[in-house]
Amino acid sequence: MVYDNDNIFAKILRGEIPCDKVFENEYALAFNDINPQAPIHVLVIPKGEFVSMADFSVNAPDDLTVGFFRAVGDVARQLGLEKDGYRLLANTGDNAHQEVPHLHFHILAGKKLGPMLSR
Ligand code: 5GP
Repeated sequence: MVYDNDNIFAKILRGEIPCDKVFENEYALAFNDINPQAPIHVLVIPKGEFVSMADFSVNAPDDLTVGFFRAVGDVARQLGLEKDGYRLLANTGDNAHQEVPHLHFHILAGKKLGPMLSR
């Protein structure tokens, strides 16, 4: 799948539309989901043009790969989620209902979450 430069997260990364930022470094940006599915619902995205995990794992340079994964852990830690726990997920493609074609990890927390899959 070719990366679409007009996807909403590309626009957020370019600063063309605002986000409610919770973390940023040279590798990643994290911000609150506009339609939260839990009391805490943060999206973490890599700073680069990657549609999915498959794309990222093959095409991201090593420093970004390490930096992004560290950032995901840092966000969870900085939000204080280690003690009570959280769910980390990345929807990929049609079957998983991926809406935005820029790799993103959801961090969901703040209550006892439901079953992993609704159906
Ligand atoms: P996906 O279904 O692709 O895994 O998740 C996309 C997520 O992006 C959804 O949870 C949706 O609420 C969120 N989202 C879509 N547009 C925006 C936006 O403009 N700003 C923010 N903060 N989140 C968005």
